[in-house]
Amino acid sequence: MTNTIQGYPYDFTTNLRYSPVYNQQIQQRTLIIPGGGCAYYRAKKGDVCPFCAFPDFSRYVIKGAGHEKDFSPWTLSADIYQQMYNSAVSAPGEFQKLAVFNGGSFFPSPEIPATTQRYIYENVAKRDNIRQLMVEAYPSYIAKSKLIEARAILGTTDLMVAVGFESISDKVRNSYLKKRIDLALFEKKVAMMQDLGVQVFIYAFLKAPQLSERQAIDEALATLEYLHNLGVDEIALSCAFVPPGTALETQYNNGEFRPPWLWSIVEIMQQARLYGWPLSIGGFEDTPPPVAGPNNCPDCDKQVNEFIAGYRLLGETPLAQPSCHCRHEWRETLQQDPTQSISIVARNIT
Ligand code: SF4
Ligand SMILES: [Zn+2]
Repeated sequence: MTNTIQGYPYDFTTNLRYSPVYNQQIQQRTLIIPGGGCAYYRAKKGDVCPFCAFPDFSRYVIKGAGHEKDFSPWTLSADIYQQMYNSAVSAPGEFQKLAVFNGGSFFPSPEIPATTQRYIYENVAKRDNIRQLMVEAYPSYIAKSKLIEARAILGTTDLMVAVGFESISDKVRNSYLKKRIDLALFEKKVAMMQDLGVQVFIYAFLKAPQLSERQAIDEALATLEYLHNLGVDEIALSCAFVPPGTALETQYNNGEFRPPWLWSIVEIMQQARLYGWPLSIGGFEDTPPPVAGPNNCPDCDKQVNEFIAGYRLLGETPLAQPSCHCRHEWRETLQQDPTQSISIVARNIT
């Protein structure tokens, strides 16, 4: 994080990207603030989401070293969050979408003070340039009263709530990725958001560490199809990378985990285009910076990353795909895979 208020770091970036909801490109400003520590993470004493380093990181930057066993909230004062917000929205540059990410859920007060939440809604509503406000929340913390309050203050500005659902498979979602999200509760929350006119954005994870490459692709495709059938507005593929200081880093260093091939992501993009799924591809950067991310081989990583970046920007894939000798290796990895598909749908890989 590159900026500070009273010594506390925060960051913001602006990116042009394709929005499946509006079917056009929009400038997105993303504000990242160190919230009071993901409530779900604190409740489970850190035994959650092995791919996510943000709650631990925010505790470190707010409380310093030596608080690893302290799971009380580490919320900053409303004034500090508001200064971070003001600095991000008043910085030069156009944007139509504002995403406020706090490494957890936006709605619980121990994460972001309720006064800050309302301050943001009120300020966003006054800014004609902002068409959409996006925040993130764990399903249990999406309360009807919170959505009604946000919608009432935001007026004609759209509210989008992002949920890290990750996988249709209970085993992948709840055992491997430790999300502990009950499917019926998730569907209830999605329906509630849809009834209240809140746009629904869902993260789907590609390649839980326990899955083979083939299983990971099948799993992601089944998840995308399920989410599309639920009528969600946007599905973001979160492609596994290796955050520092996590269990995944240990597995990666022991040679027990390879982040997904870029070819697997390209394959999922093609299937999404074929079936009309509102898919976006999450960035491969994060806070703190990953140790390793999706890759093919040194001969084509740059070219295929650019191909994926083009999709992020335009929402469509050029007909001509990149090519490289390593695509054969990727295909053989899939074809020789003896493991069974874990998902409910298995598709032919092109
Ligand atoms: S992925 Fe979300 S719910 Fe899980 S630890 Fe990270 S911030 Fe919390
Ligand atoms: Zn290659």
